[in-house]
Amino acid sequence: MYFIQGGFIIVHILRCRDLGFNDDFIVIDADPKKAKEKMIEHVKDKHKDEFEELSDFHKDEIISKVDYLLNRGCGCGVLKL
Ligand SMILES: [Zn+2]
Repeated sequence: MYFIQGGFIIVHILRCRDLGFNDDFIVIDADPKKAKEKMIEHVKDKHKDEFEELSDFHKDEIISKVDYLLNRGCGCGVLKL
């Protein structure tokens, strides 16, 4: 968890909801790779059944959505929390 002071720290925020799952899990990390890892870990853990039922195409789609959200992300995402 990072505390933001004056917006100098860029954090990456991923919301489980943005990936189409129905819960309030949020990953906040300054390192986009870690943020991605944590989110995928969460999906595979908490949404295992839902995720396993998806086709490979849809799995890829979720993972590329994580990349998309990270690339688009900057500190300003914090304001939308
Ligand atoms: Zn979730």
